[in-house]
Amino acid sequence: MEKSKRLFMGLLLLALAILSIFVGGVWYLNFFGFSLLSKGVLIIISLALSVFALLLILGILGIVLTLRLGQPIKPLIIPTKVVISYFLPIIIHLGGLLGLDKESIQSSFINVSNQLINPSKMKLSPDDIMVLVPHCIQNSECNYRVTSNLNNCKRCGRCQVQDLIEVTEKYGIHLAIATGGTLARKIIKEIRPKAIIAVACERDLSSGIQDIYPMPVIGVVNLRPHGPCINTGVEVEKIEEAIQQLISNK
Ligand code: SF4
Repeated sequence: MEKSKRLFMGLLLLALAILSIFVGGVWYLNFFGFSLLSKGVLIIISLALSVFALLLILGILGIVLTLRLGQPIKPLIIPTKVVISYFLPIIIHLGGLLGLDKESIQSSFINVSNQLINPSKMKLSPDDIMVLVPHCIQNSECNYRVTSNLNNCKRCGRCQVQDLIEVTEKYGIHLAIATGGTLARKIIKEIRPKAIIAVACERDLSSGIQDIYPMPVIGVVNLRPHGPCINTGVEVEKIEEAIQQLISNK
């Protein structure tokens, strides 16, 4: 497993180990520790923790097997979804306690999530694919409103909106610019893509991936030469690579 994925997977395993110790401890108290009165409560706690641990085990297994075999394992899709959708905040918290950088964990999560996509099973046409980028990629001094209509871009070359329009036109796929999560969700509902190539910072990408999982999302982390949320950029080659990856197996 690549180093970039190991951080997230390692923390997931650590979370599982800690949870297993808790589960073992609570079951131990059930049998040897507490009076009859507290036993009912303890059993409920033990069962809840055991279900939680089981979900985590199956979710981790789902991720590992999907990464290995290159396709999702049907009976493990739900636990995998639970782990991808809900465990990241716990993992970030755990990593924080160990002094690990939040962005590195989010970036590792994005790498794992990108690898869970198997385009060969999706049979996508260009019309099924959408590139979704944040508004901060537009030059902050540009007066044209490209979020409502991309045709408003004059392609002056002062920002990468022009490059993105050109690369998406080349392959005939959708391009959308969103000012935030609410607009992004609205655009997804309207266009109804079958796969998304999303550009954003680590935080927005990881929360977006969690929000719409299992919709396939290839996350591309943006460039922030002027700091976050202003005049950001993207490696257009990575977008093109992702497009080719998605349509090459049609
Ligand atoms: S390429 Fe030029 S016209 Fe288009 S959004 Fe960027 S700055 Fe505005």
